[in-house]
Amino acid sequence: MTHQECINCGTKYDINEIVYFCKKCGDLIEVKYNFDELAEKLEKTNWKQVPLSVWRYKDFMPIQDVSKIVSLNEGGTGLHSCHKLGKQLGLLQLNVKNEGENPTGSFKDRGMTVGVSKANELGAKNVICASTGNTSASLAAYAAKSGMRCTVLIPSGKIAYGKLSQAMIYGAKVFQVRGNFDQSLDMVLKLSEKHPSIYLLNSINPFRVEGQKSLGFEICDQLDGEAPDRIVVPVGNAGNISAIWKGFTEYHKLGFINKLPKMTGIQAAGSAPIAQMIKNGSTEMVPVQSPETVATAIRIGAPVSWKKAVNAIRNSGGTAETVTDDEILAAQKLLARVEGIFVEPASASSIAGLIKLVNNGVIDKGERVVCVTTGHGLKDPDTAVKMSEKPIEVEAEMTAIEDALGLKHMEILAR
Ligand SMILES: *Cc1c(COP(=O)(O)O)cnc(C)c1O
Ligand SMILES: [Zn+2]
Repeated sequence: MTHQECINCGTKYDINEIVYFCKKCGDLIEVKYNFDELAEKLEKTNWKQVPLSVWRYKDFMPIQDVSKIVSLNEGGTGLHSCHKLGKQLGLLQLNVKNEGENPTGSFKDRGMTVGVSKANELGAKNVICASTGNTSASLAAYAAKSGMRCTVLIPSGKIAYGKLSQAMIYGAKVFQVRGNFDQSLDMVLKLSEKHPSIYLLNSINPFRVEGQKSLGFEICDQLDGEAPDRIVVPVGNAGNISAIWKGFTEYHKLGFINKLPKMTGIQAAGSAPIAQMIKNGSTEMVPVQSPETVATAIRIGAPVSWKKAVNAIRNSGGTAETVTDDEILAAQKLLARVEGIFVEPASASSIAGLIKLVNNGVIDKGERVVCVTTGHGLKDPDTAVKMSEKPIEVEAEMTAIEDALGLKHMEILAR
């Protein structure tokens, strides 16, 4: 039977119980399956014929009533072969899993389709989250589709305009809190505890993690049933790296892949508590008080899923690294100009991390690497405009363009 379980003390909870933290020890909750049952069930269906998408994996999801599914057609994102960039770095094989191709432009949709479907199954009418942007954009869309009321808390300070515009147009009630992300998260945790009619959809919600694990499944399916040697992924609140690892381990247990990738987490230098833990070999997370980075989606000082993420990194033989804002912005531009993939700064941190880890010899050039780019570049157009050459203003005359492009003035010959 599918159930929920505390990752620390193993206390079990019913799959339909609303529980965000263990009632005994306060630790995180995860969904567990009986793999013999699941394998049997899978054998009786044609799931491998269903097009690549989150719901191809519905038997791996904690939803009992498929009529409650709320979907905008998420997942099935491209796994792009990046020969040119790979060659520049001397890598044998580099792929980019571009999560910006999801309905609201980030991987958050994978988790929200499952989280909101479960909320729907549980009869929730109100949903809430704290967000640096993409979570609120995604939740607002799925809440709109399902007819739930949506409240989002965003931290004060710089927020990427593309994301804010999404939450607003989808009709969420948006609060900008005079405080940082970690304070906003603390508030929604307490609000949902005090008012059980408000269902919480931050990444501690164990059902969101279930949706996000499909990212791992898809990568294996796109590589014809093989796991890559390494996954490089940006880490903020640390739900995604934990979810992707869960996906790989479940596929491994079911025998669909025969090895596991090294999970490699990348954090912004000004906001890197998990990378610090990995570098120091410590077992407790020390929060960063005032996290700062241009990569707003990973500007998080106290990642709530740090324990799951650190377990994923350590159990997979992976690592974590930090990158500076300059490295992030250079990587963003490089990926756009060499591979035609435009991602937001947080997403580019996986590319920046890859470059750093190849250059310092941690990543072997013979490895097959998949970098996850988590969100679309149009989420944060201001940064992209600031980073690029300004448009050149010219007179409305051909010769002006020819001059600017270094072309010769030639008569157009009559044919
Ligand atoms: C949410 C988000 C992240 C961070 O993911 P976590 O699960 O919080 O670690 C990274 N990049 C983008 C674009 C995001 O939206
Ligand atoms: Zn517990």
